[in-house]
Amino acid sequence: MIFDREHECMGREELQRLQSERLVALVKRVYDRVPFYRRLFDETGIAPGKVRGLADLAGLPFTRKYNLRDEYPFGLFATPMREVVRIHASSGTTGKPTTVGYTKDDIAMWANVCARALAGAGTTQDDVVQVAYGYGLFTGGLGAHYGAELIGASVIPISGSNTQRQLMLMEDFGSTVICCTPSFMLYLYDVAQQLELDVKKLPLKVGVFGAEPWSEGMRRDIEQKWNIKACDIYGLSEIIGPGVSCECVEAQSGLHLNDDHFLPEIIDPESGETVPEGEMGELVITTLTKEAFPLIRYRTGDITRLMTEPCICGRTNIRMDRVSGRTDDMLIIRGVNVFPSQVESVLLMSPQVEPHYRLIVTRKGAMDNMEIQVEIKQDLYREVSDSVLSMDDMTTISDHQTLIALKSNIQKNVKDIIGINVGVTFREPGSIERVEGKTQRVVDKRKEQEGS
Ligand SMILES: [Zn+2]
Repeated sequence: MIFDREHECMGREELQRLQSERLVALVKRVYDRVPFYRRLFDETGIAPGKVRGLADLAGLPFTRKYNLRDEYPFGLFATPMREVVRIHASSGTTGKPTTVGYTKDDIAMWANVCARALAGAGTTQDDVVQVAYGYGLFTGGLGAHYGAELIGASVIPISGSNTQRQLMLMEDFGSTVICCTPSFMLYLYDVAQQLELDVKKLPLKVGVFGAEPWSEGMRRDIEQKWNIKACDIYGLSEIIGPGVSCECVEAQSGLHLNDDHFLPEIIDPESGETVPEGEMGELVITTLTKEAFPLIRYRTGDITRLMTEPCICGRTNIRMDRVSGRTDDMLIIRGVNVFPSQVESVLLMSPQVEPHYRLIVTRKGAMDNMEIQVEIKQDLYREVSDSVLSMDDMTTISDHQTLIALKSNIQKNVKDIIGINVGVTFREPGSIERVEGKTQRVVDKRKEQEGS
């Protein structure tokens, strides 16, 4: 179901006219109402009257996460507090959170874009939606909640955790749609197994997963274990919360971005320049319609690309690829921007290796070198170690023909897709350290080498 056909299926030209109009009004509004933006525009010598449309977007200054922290708590609000009806905040890694505000109209727009997202994932008035994102200062729970209610679905606002209770209500209330993080969905499955609950007998048909990066492999895993369709939803509290973009259940290929409200750009995170159409880079968003907390060219830090090809579902809004990493993780190897997630997706093309890897970056003279250490699958390890006499270490078996061929295959793929020459060494299955939470994928030795 397309929830807001008028805006989701607009002609590109008509949409661009609307975006232009909204951008011009936005620039004027923030200049008049937010001292931070007035200062920023004055410093960069941009007169708001000179901004006439989309063509002027790339000349506007960026807004960065630290600007939000510096203006804590309400410095970036563009409306007086008496017009603000809701405040959310995201926890910062250090110290104060990032605060965002909503007017009544902002809340209505948020509900609308979340309804578009959930409807795109297959939700209708006949569904029972279990919202297992956290409710509270975090935007996840209430965002999905308002969207599902606007569709007219029956909402179960259970919030996060309470694993056993989630499963009990899912069964007793007959949930057909669940919203939560993909990792929580996998955890729910494990607990269901322990309780000997046959999840495939449940009426659940769709999961709307987000709030953390996840891979195609994880999607297949969830879909197969639960016998559901798994759709990716994207959002961040700075922009609105969930509902910035979401995959349609028909294609599950790229997230339809609500670009009548959120104007996307992709830039090179190093230079800040716009990248050619379709290329990967950092997602930058301008909130075209928000009243209480508008942002100009906000640097999300998320790595993706934009897709302009039409989608089989009939929506015409632009799509973004699933987020494949963060700019914080970007490496520059011989002038080429490299994201660990890109390496991961190249490794996933070879079924004989595990997605457990480490990237070792070194510098010899002026030359950067990257070595990929990757675990091979158990079957392959057994096969090759059986065939050589001494099966004690990887150095011996790395000379095995199969591994030599696999190595040059991976090197060729990395060269073709990422554009750099790399070294590849294989490791025994299970030998690369797993850490709870974030795995340390990158060992960058260049800094310490500089000192020597
Ligand atoms: Zn679609």
